[in-house]
Amino acid sequence: MQQDIDVEIRDGMTMHMSVPVDLLACPRCKGSLLYQENKGQPYLNCAACKCAYPVKEGIPLMLQDEAVAF
Ligand SMILES: [Zn+2]
Repeated sequence: MQQDIDVEIRDGMTMHMSVPVDLLACPRCKGSLLYQENKGQPYLNCAACKCAYPVKEGIPLMLQDEAVAF
């Protein structure tokens, strides 16, 4: 199963991604992630453990080291 998300790469440019849903689980708590933007940067947010994973060049960085609090 795939989830389609649109990621804004930079002004006026978006990239459509089809990401396997099991990739869209928080590596910390396995919670589901929501795509959001914060200050123009795309993130995948985990509401359950209050962290966000940055999306860089259309690729979600699903590493605990990359997670930021939100
Ligand atoms: Zn989480």
